[in-house]
Amino acid sequence: RDLTFDDGPGAYTNQLLDILKKYNVKVTFFVTGKGDDSIIKREYDEGHTVALHTNTHNYSYIYASQDNYFEDLYTIRNRVKRITGMESNIIRFPGGTSNTVSKISMRELAKEVTNRGFYYFDWNVSSGDAGGTTTADGVYNNVVNNLKSGVSVVLQHDIKKFSVDAVERIIQYGLENGYTFKALDETSPVVHHGANK
Ligand code: ZN
Repeated sequence: RDLTFDDGPGAYTNQLLDILKKYNVKVTFFVTGKGDDSIIKREYDEGHTVALHTNTHNYSYIYASQDNYFEDLYTIRNRVKRITGMESNIIRFPGGTSNTVSKISMRELAKEVTNRGFYYFDWNVSSGDAGGTTTADGVYNNVVNNLKSGVSVVLQHDIKKFSVDAVERIIQYGLENGYTFKALDETSPVVHHGANK
């Protein structure tokens, strides 16, 4: 099972890193231009995958043209490289490949990122923390009730305290039920949404 956290680093990321360390669980962070450099450094040093989400998370900018999208993507990639020394090529589109807010074709953008050597990942288990629920109990239930028999890529946001507060119980549930937790890499089984445009 791949736990993934979007939109950080933020105020609760260190709390999350403490929990992950306690259980020796590695996850994937899809980071942005926000938050402290030291948190990204810690994510990397503690063996998690530091992956790329977006520098600005501004849909109207990044999805106005492919040029804008790649300008934003290379900005966050350079930030991660400056902090960790590593060139990340694992990405997640803001809103996922299936988003309908983009003014440009997501089908073509997905093709182009692949041509440029990036690997993009969506998710197949949503914690609902972006809208459906606002409690740790809600996040926990959404995740454990929707785990797949094969690969589960779980979407959470480490900028939300209630979502971070659910992680310890999610890990305990997973460990008790024979799941293994892994961070994403280039060889991970692909979980893609279909593009709507
Ligand atoms: Zn996001």
